Amino acid sequence: MTEPTISTAPSGLLSIFAHPDDESYGAGGVMALAAAAGNPVWVLCATNGDQGGKPGEVGVDHSLDPEIRRAELACACKELGVAEPIFLGYRDSGMEGWGAPEGSLSRAPKDEVVERILTVIRRLRPAVIVTFDPGGVYGHPDHTACSDTASAAYLRAAAEPGGPVALYHQVMPRSVVMGMQAMQEAERRRSGDDKPPTEDDIRQQEAFIKLARPDDEITTVVPILPVVERKIAALACHDSQMRGRRWDDPEERAQMEKMFGSETFVRVDPAPRPGEMEDRFMGLKWGME
Ligand SMILES: [Zn+2]
Repeated sequence: MTEPTISTAPSGLLSIFAHPDDESYGAGGVMALAAAAGNPVWVLCATNGDQGGKPGEVGVDHSLDPEIRRAELACACKELGVAEPIFLGYRDSGMEGWGAPEGSLSRAPKDEVVERILTVIRRLRPAVIVTFDPGGVYGHPDHTACSDTASAAYLRAAAEPGGPVALYHQVMPRSVVMGMQAMQEAERRRSGDDKPPTEDDIRQQEAFIKLARPDDEITTVVPILPVVERKIAALACHDSQMRGRRWDDPEERAQMEKMFGSETFVRVDPAPRPGEMEDRFMGLKWGME
C-alpha cells in the first residue's frame, strides 16, 4: 500500500499591491477571470491606505481611517470573486514630497518586507504572482517598494520546491495613459471646470507618461470584457477614492469599458522569447473565453 502523496504543485494567483484599489485598477479583470476559471486567487495588500484621504495638494492632512479602506478592499474582493484580502499592515507613505510617516511601507527595511511576503507565499503556494512594474505605474513610493519587495520575494520562493512558476508585472501602456489623460481633461471640462490644470497636476501627468511602458515592451494583453462589469463594481467599492463616481452616465460607461477592455503586463519570469506575446497568464487554469 502506498502512502497518499501530498501534492506539491503550486496553484492559483497571488496579486501583491500597495494600497486598497491598486488591485482593481491593475489586475481586477485577470483576478476575476482566474477565479471564475476555478483558480484560487488572493490579494495581498501591503498598506492600509491611510493616506488616501485627499487628492493632490501638499501640506494638508491626507489621513483616513484605515478601517474604511480595509472594508473597501474586502468589498472589491467579493465583487471580483476572490478570497478575503490579506494585509501586511504597513502605513501608507502618501505621495512623494508629503513626508512618509513612521511605520510606512517605503520606510520599512526591504529585508523585513521581503521576508513577510515570502511567509505569505509559502503559506498560500500560488503558481503565479502579479505585482507592480518597477516604476509603480506613476512612481508612488509605496508602489515602487511593493514591486521591489514582491519581485524579490518571488525570486526566493521560485527557487524553493513547490514555489511559484511565473511572475508578472502590471504595466500601463504609454498610449493608454495618454488616452486616459485626454478623457480626464474632457470630463473636467464637461463638469464646467475651465481652470487650467495646476502645476501639480501637470507634473503628475508628465510623470505618468514617463513611467508608463512603451507599448512594444508589453508581453501580455489579457482581454477582460467578459468580467468588465465585475471590475467596475470592484472599483466602485473603493468609494473613498472614487468620490462618488459610479459611471452611471452611458457615454462615460462606454468609455470605461473601452479603456478597461484589456489589462496589460510584462512577463518577467520565465522571460519571454523575443517577440513572444500572450493573451493570458501562464501557470493558471483559464476557462472563460
Ligand atoms: Zn496605490
